[in-house]
Amino acid sequence: MSAASPSDLKPLRTAVRRRLLPWFARNARDLPWRTDPRDPYAVWISEIMLQQTRVDTVIPYFRRFLKRFPTPAALAAAPLQDVLKQWEGLGYYTRARQIHKMANLLVRHHDGTLPSDPAALAALPGLGPYTTAAIASFAFGHPLAVLDGNIIRVLARLLALADDITLPATRRRLQQLADDLLPADRAAAANEAWMELGALVCTPRNPACAACPLRPLCRARTTSAPETFPKRKKKMKVPHKIVGAAVILNPKNQILIAQRCPEKGMLAGLWEFPGGKRADGETMPQCIARELREEMGIEIEVGPHLVTVPHAYSHFTIDLHAHFARIRKGRPRHIECAGHAWVTPGQFDDYPFSKADHGIIRALRALPRPPRLRDFFA
Ligand code: SF4
Repeated sequence: MSAASPSDLKPLRTAVRRRLLPWFARNARDLPWRTDPRDPYAVWISEIMLQQTRVDTVIPYFRRFLKRFPTPAALAAAPLQDVLKQWEGLGYYTRARQIHKMANLLVRHHDGTLPSDPAALAALPGLGPYTTAAIASFAFGHPLAVLDGNIIRVLARLLALADDITLPATRRRLQQLADDLLPADRAAAANEAWMELGALVCTPRNPACAACPLRPLCRARTTSAPETFPKRKKKMKVPHKIVGAAVILNPKNQILIAQRCPEKGMLAGLWEFPGGKRADGETMPQCIARELREEMGIEIEVGPHLVTVPHAYSHFTIDLHAHFARIRKGRPRHIECAGHAWVTPGQFDDYPFSKADHGIIRALRALPRPPRLRDFFA
């Protein structure tokens, strides 16, 4: 079937009140952002952190972040570098830059608080329909249905939906269904109950149908393979990139690190071991030397290999090959980077790096002693 008919809706609506909400009351996890009453700021930060990220991963980050920046005003007053440092390892760094920008906007235009009006929330930059509905519902009790990956999965299974859920038309129908099923007087609890059911019971690979409060109504359960719902078109093969990075030593045995331009790309503003993507036909030393010429205007000699770090981003994977190097000519300039610093391995903790660059840091720290220029270059 492609959509829920009105006759499907009545038993589902009843089941939300009689089965799903009582199940949630018994099984809701004790999560640090589920305070009573809800703190809109905590709801906002948790929702942004939870995008593409597991609850278990988010919890320690959330606690540290709220301790360091307890209010929008504290967040707005902090330098972006501090915010990125707190976010380090959580990935999708655009989120950190956006919440910092939005905190400043809240201080300037909303007395440092999140507006309770859904239209005013939706007008804030960086809040999409899902996050707007989540904040409006969880923090302020507005009857807006949220639709995240967990809820899409549960609804698609309840209806044994044959349609491709990556299509906008299917998403619109599921949003309509979520809207239709939302009890206006229990909006926040119902939204969270759907999400919790998807996270704890109706999981992607192994739905625990025997423990599910909605099993009498579920059509996917009556098939032999409920886990095959929702349907989506086959994923494209994820591209793989080969990237080179230089660990450049100076005569004081300090290492050169560069800051990515603050407004460019998904890792903008973070620090890195400078380098970039290998072009067709290049050897790794040629790639690294060219990148340093283009990025910082220096000629380098590329030496021994230190480590290769494999890393997966959401839309591609990389192998990051790090080599020791030294400068032969020139001083670092900021051509395609925002800044640079010469640091010792002990100072890496003062700068936010991406996860892949942390692989290089781990390899450097695993050496029997801090690297010296003369160990690698005559
Ligand atoms: S019965 Fe199984 S497939 Fe259906 S909603 Fe519950 S856990 Fe998911």
